[in-house]
Amino acid sequence: MSFSCKNYDYNNDKCLMLKQDCIPGRPGCVLEGRVTLSEALTDRIKGLEQQKISCKTDKK
Ligand code: SF4
Repeated sequence: MSFSCKNYDYNNDKCLMLKQDCIPGRPGCVLEGRVTLSEALTDRIKGLEQQKISCKTDKK
């Protein structure tokens, strides 16, 4: 299955709305909570959460 998103910037492979990498289902994405994610996407989102946690702990 494929889909297209009006927020996807095909030239830069980024999300125009979030101004970050397009990871469908990520926090803030129009698909968040509306779709069942593949294991690969779930792992990428978990990776983002880990980055956030490490950024917060680095600032202390
Ligand atoms: S992250 Fe979500 S809202 Fe942004 S371009 Fe990708 S699918 Fe669309």
